[in-house]
Amino acid sequence: MSDKNVCRECAFYEDHVANDGSVTQNAGLCRFNPPVSQPESNSRGLWPVVAAEDWCGHFHAPAASKAA
Ligand code: SF4
Repeated sequence: MSDKNVCRECAFYEDHVANDGSVTQNAGLCRFNPPVSQPESNSRGLWPVVAAEDWCGHFHAPAASKAA
């Protein structure tokens, strides 16, 4: 397992922004699957929160950015 194949380098990782707009350090949302465990019918589903150094078998490298 390469330490480059961690969540913070994955195409499905998104910085976790709290409701007050602050970015949670060393944590992000995994967008690989739809939100899960909607506790009540009128509440939102939850995106899994992962640590930047976590990893899983669904790691996907982001597409290389194209030079303009
Ligand atoms: S849990 Fe897997 S799919 Fe989700 S961000 Fe981490 S490596 Fe990517």
